[in-house]
Amino acid sequence: MNIIVEVGYLIATVSFLGGLKFMSSPKKAKTGNIIAASGMVIAVVFTFLAIMFNAVPTINLIVILAAITLGTLAGKRMASKVEMTAMPQLVSLFNATGGGCAMLLGLIEAHQLDVNTSLTGIKILLLLGLITGAIAATGSILAYRKLAGKTKDIRKALVVVSSRLLLALIVVLPITYFAGVLPLSFEVMAYSMAVLSLSYGILFVLPIGGADMPVVISLLNSITGIATAFAGFVYGNKAMIAGGIFVGAAGILLTLLMCKAMNRSLLKVLAGKFKKTAISGDTEDQNIKPISISETTMQLTFANKVAIVPGYGLAVAQGQHLCGQLQKLLEARGIQVDFIIHPVAGRMPGHMNVLLAEANIDYKHLKEMNDVNEDMSHYDLVLIIGANDVVNPAAENKPDSPIYGMPIIKTHESKQVIVMKRGMSTGYAGVSNDLFGMDNCNLLFGDAKDSLQDIVNQLKLI
Ligand code: NDP
Repeated sequence: MNIIVEVGYLIATVSFLGGLKFMSSPKKAKTGNIIAASGMVIAVVFTFLAIMFNAVPTINLIVILAAITLGTLAGKRMASKVEMTAMPQLVSLFNATGGGCAMLLGLIEAHQLDVNTSLTGIKILLLLGLITGAIAATGSILAYRKLAGKTKDIRKALVVVSSRLLLALIVVLPITYFAGVLPLSFEVMAYSMAVLSLSYGILFVLPIGGADMPVVISLLNSITGIATAFAGFVYGNKAMIAGGIFVGAAGILLTLLMCKAMNRSLLKVLAGKFKKTAISGDTEDQNIKPISISETTMQLTFANKVAIVPGYGLAVAQGQHLCGQLQKLLEARGIQVDFIIHPVAGRMPGHMNVLLAEANIDYKHLKEMNDVNEDMSHYDLVLIIGANDVVNPAAENKPDSPIYGMPIIKTHESKQVIVMKRGMSTGYAGVSNDLFGMDNCNLLFGDAKDSLQDIVNQLKLI
């Protein structure tokens, strides 16, 4: 039986790898997800088979089946109900369950461990899995609450000092325990580490700014992967080890890429050094020039080359399908239309790519920021739909701005810019946008979906 289970785990591992490979292309990402999810189903089925053939009490099998059923139903319900804009929150909640699970596995094993015969290596792996899992569990719940606007950032010195103290304890206590200095049973040690790590998860996320939460979620996701890999080593379960390592590696790479796209170091993110409340420039001093739907439509029809820059507001308005219609109508008139996507537009990496893929916008129309930034002056008109921070010139020319240094799409260098937004609210970083007052910029106020619908209607008539 063992060999069959091992083959099952191998198939699962290959599926995870194949899934990841497919996910590197937006076109194939959906297939990649299905492949990786199938790998997970295979891993679960083979683990269940392994348990059944190991003469496990029937009550355990019933509990496991009940947990799988409940988890599947809850997961399906949450995933099908969630709005695209709330996806990072959902990822965070799922991550919390993964971390919590790794911690509980550690505690159960610590309870059952034969302290006299168990190898120190196993105990170390067990504690590492338990610690990382506990940090990921509470950290993710807090990250979810912050993203949902339910908990505010707390940057009090007491929080920072306590979190550093806890981290020191989490590092020092196990070392002294394994050196034989700490006269505690392994079980007490495990429970103490769980409590300390759960508390550290909260204190570690508490001071970090709301704008940095997606980065933190990606980091916590990576930590959950590492916790799972540690648990996999304890059980000798190869599918768990491989899956955990993939999640851990992918999570840390994503974290670093997000930091790079925002021009922030991971250390600064973790230190909570994002002055969310700082205001760069004053909206009242700006010469805001509103524009109407008909004027926007006219400008679009007179252009030869148009760029559409989507941002978080497009996701809120759910205007992606109208965006696709607008592109087709303009192209039918011989106008070239490109979509320029900023790596951190929206609230998670790839947010805009997914949104535009939903509207079946052909990938050949999507341009990377770095590929077009030097040629922005070639665009007759740039239509910014619900983007703000990612087009803010303050990131380039205001060293005191909190977003200074973040690469932006240089829309201000194009011939004409029209920004679609509802009012004068700031973007996620909380800073006003110098672009709005520039001579070549007009603002089309209104919900992006409504405005797009009106423009599309007018284009159909003329
Ligand atoms: P922003 O959050 O900067 O701006 C969104 C804009 O959309 C606002 O100006 C808002 O203005 C407008 N808006 C909201 N709803 C609507 C609507 N229904 N119709 C029309 N407009 C609307 O978005 P960006 O995409 O430009 O920037 C993303 C931000 O998120 C960056 O600061 C980035 O660093 C941060 N971030 C992103 C991550 C990622 O992975 N993508 C990760 C971490 C952070 P108004 O309310 O006036 O309409």
